[in-house]
Amino acid sequence: MDVPAVINRYIDPSKIDVDEKCLEYGEVYLGERVEGGYELRGFELVERERDFSEGVEIVISKNLKFDNFDVLGIHILVDTSLSEEAASAMGSLIGEVLSKIKGLEYKFRKENVVIKLSDELKSESVFECIGKMIFLSFKKIPAVSRLRVRLILEKEEFEKIRKKSREIHLRRNELFKKKDEEVDRFFVCTSCQCYLPSHGCVISPERPSPCGTTWVEAKAAEELGIVQYYRAALKGRRKNSEYEGINNTLRKLSEGKIERVSLHSVLKNPPPTGLYSELIIFYDPERDAFGIIDRNFKERTPIGLTFSEMERIIIGQQVEGFTGSSFSYLKSERFLADEGGWERVYWASPKVYDYLKTFLPSEILSGIETIQE
Ligand code: SF4
Repeated sequence: MDVPAVINRYIDPSKIDVDEKCLEYGEVYLGERVEGGYELRGFELVERERDFSEGVEIVISKNLKFDNFDVLGIHILVDTSLSEEAASAMGSLIGEVLSKIKGLEYKFRKENVVIKLSDELKSESVFECIGKMIFLSFKKIPAVSRLRVRLILEKEEFEKIRKKSREIHLRRNELFKKKDEEVDRFFVCTSCQCYLPSHGCVISPERPSPCGTTWVEAKAAEELGIVQYYRAALKGRRKNSEYEGINNTLRKLSEGKIERVSLHSVLKNPPPTGLYSELIIFYDPERDAFGIIDRNFKERTPIGLTFSEMERIIIGQQVEGFTGSSFSYLKSERFLADEGGWERVYWASPKVYDYLKTFLPSEILSGIETIQE
């Protein structure tokens, strides 16, 4: 089989108009639902690199037309003078910028990104414009001296960098490991408020957000002023996995709908769930135990509900018996600490089960059922 030639279109940064007006853009489009159009698989990676030239690059194969592709990887190279924490935190700016483009919906984080484009947005000039917008937004961060924005539409390059992205994000998770008790403040993310007013997700070192943002990323993003939606909240006094300061913050944010949050619980005051949860942990009263399902598993769980049926019940809410989670929370030492941890998990969807195989001891894994896809 012929491998299609890859074309790299370069855009000289000196030719980037600072008042770029190539697309309709503004806060007003945050939370816009795009009807019809195209859905693209995506990823976002901000990587530190020594040798690269500044600019915007669009990677597309020769035989691929701008109205006929289904992936869009966003790969950004920044200088090594930035810390690994800062590079990691900058990933959240990508969705923030793109969500403000009229006709573009940007969902999820890291390797799970899904981008929806309206029909009018599938043209070469649009992708040049998107590249320039990301470039200019990153350039506004004082700590960023040099960068390259790569928009990858070519499948082979997409899969290669997406794999690298997963490896880098997993490595960062290990590198940034901290304990809840080692810090005096957690973060509350309000990014989903454009869809879910009064919602906030709690992010602690041992409880990353349901969409996969780590405490270190939220902290670095807040310090660098990259995005405005991570609010620091002092923990205050602790009782089990409940913190007085976090309860107060959530109570105010939710206008009294949420009184208390237990970070490592599903059954009693579980953390509320935003829109982009990677997984849902659910309680099965018949087994008096928990199951875990990932977003891509479309079949029914043992409690008779699919992921999207559960998601409809819980987004923006605190619903006892369910909570949103990221894959990285599964590796937390305090995973479901209030409810017996892994001993009480009896079911996992196949993708989750494969992930568990990489770190759970065999005696625990043998107590978890899954199904063949
Ligand atoms: S799901 Fe939660 S953490 Fe993720 S973007 Fe939404 S509010 Fe923020």
